[in-house]
Amino acid sequence: SRAVYSATMNSPQDILEHVFGYTQFRSPQAEVIDTLMAGRDALVLMPTGGGKSLCYQIPALARPGCGVVISPLIALMQDQVEALQAAGVRAAFLNSSVAFDEAQDIESALLHGELDVLYLAPERLLQPRTLGLLQRAQLSLFAIDEAHCVSQWGHDFRADYLQLNCLHEQFPNVPRIALTATADQRTRAEIATRLDLEDARHFVSSFDRPNIQYRIAQKDNARRQLLQFLQSEQQGNAGIVYCLSRAKVESTAEWLCQQGFTALPYHAGLPAATRAEYQRRFLREEGVIVVATIAFGMGIDKPDVRFVAHLDLPKSVEAYYQETGRAGRDGEPSTALLLYGFEDVVKLGQMVESSDGSEEHKRQERARLNAMLGLCEITSCRRQALLRYFAEEQPEPCGNCDTCLEPPQTWDATEAAAKLLSCVYRTGQRFGAAHVIDVLRGSENEKVRKFGHDQLTTHGIGTELSANEWRAVVRQLVVRGYLEVEGEFQGLRLTEACRPLLRGEETVQLRKLPPKAARAETRRAA
Ligand code: ADP
Ligand code: ZN
Repeated sequence: SRAVYSATMNSPQDILEHVFGYTQFRSPQAEVIDTLMAGRDALVLMPTGGGKSLCYQIPALARPGCGVVISPLIALMQDQVEALQAAGVRAAFLNSSVAFDEAQDIESALLHGELDVLYLAPERLLQPRTLGLLQRAQLSLFAIDEAHCVSQWGHDFRADYLQLNCLHEQFPNVPRIALTATADQRTRAEIATRLDLEDARHFVSSFDRPNIQYRIAQKDNARRQLLQFLQSEQQGNAGIVYCLSRAKVESTAEWLCQQGFTALPYHAGLPAATRAEYQRRFLREEGVIVVATIAFGMGIDKPDVRFVAHLDLPKSVEAYYQETGRAGRDGEPSTALLLYGFEDVVKLGQMVESSDGSEEHKRQERARLNAMLGLCEITSCRRQALLRYFAEEQPEPCGNCDTCLEPPQTWDATEAAAKLLSCVYRTGQRFGAAHVIDVLRGSENEKVRKFGHDQLTTHGIGTELSANEWRAVVRQLVVRGYLEVEGEFQGLRLTEACRPLLRGEETVQLRKLPPKAARAETRRAA
């Protein structure tokens, strides 16, 4: 059985072994912990599941005083506190759900040095009363979890987070660590400036999950494809099958059971007790398949999930990365299989259009969906594209994704690409794909005429492709870095990478669209 934390145990390695029950640090946990032990600040960027929590939990225990963890997610706070308490750590949380008496007890424990870790919601921390309390306590560190919430450009923006820079001024001697799984450079830079972490040591982990084999295929008969995959490669293995709707979750689970698998449905519409029971079976029993909407996975930590299959297109690359990331946490070979169809694109597109978000929000959702579709349509290494999406360059194709293992059918799109790029250029590099495609296909609609684009040499030079085929060309050129999508109106712009192509020194091969998708006419913007 696991020993319980005690004050005599204070090297990070001891705590790792005896409190958390692990033998080794994962990279870069040891370096992050050393940084805080030395009283310095750290900014940690690590993918979900990478092991961020230990980066602050261990130094919080190893340094004298109480570690204060700021987290916006009340549910996760509670989970973490319970897990720490089970390991013998004196942990507590304060948020709006804690009763007055209990809060008083926690405050008094803090002041008497009887608390190791305290979780706080940002709004609670910022109350003058709480800040005053913290001033009177001995603190080992501040951990700012989900630090990307300071970014006004992200979708998780929290105004309270902006005020967390006061920690630096009010507690100059308490080291701070900010953590996030959001990778892009702009957000990282924003976290550093807004939280006064310019002098902090930055730890940026790779988002690569080399043991996951990425496979993306077009649906023809999704059930048959899934069955073949399970029977030929995944007999007896635990895995997750994601579907978009509850009805499809139910019917798929039932069908898998008929095929002889142990499959359990999981979605937010099931009673809490049923969900807890299924979750428990997934964790404890061998070879259980959970068929789920995205409601499943948050906080599920099963190391030996051998596969994640998507029967519907995830709505963003971030979602795809997160969901597939639940496979193979033990580092053993695992597979992420995505089956997508053109219908998914239409369905998700409609969901975006009919949502009640603002125009700006819809635009962002559309752009995310298109990036996801771009990842499906590329003909080059999936992993390289996936990592590039998170601003990480991998110099070589991975050799462990479907496009590396089995190069897809393509067509020579050099001429089409050149037409598109010059049309983007001629129209001034500020219009979105829909307009550029209208010009290419010779539309004489009001907008085309208003800007005089019916007079351009590129007007009507692209009638050989349907609007859908052009959209696929646009998406693929964006994914490959020839075009950039910019600004509020998703305007297309050429990049440096276009030059060799425009000079005729380079060819482009694009993935063939299935005939159904090429013909279909929808009003979705590319
Ligand atoms: P994140 O917050 O980055 O998503 P967590 O801190 O929740 O990740 O850690 C993910 C999983 O990895 C947890 O089950 C955690 O216990 C486990 N883990 C973290 N560090 C180690 C380690 N050094 N050795 C083994 N397992 C670890
Ligand atoms: Zn690859």
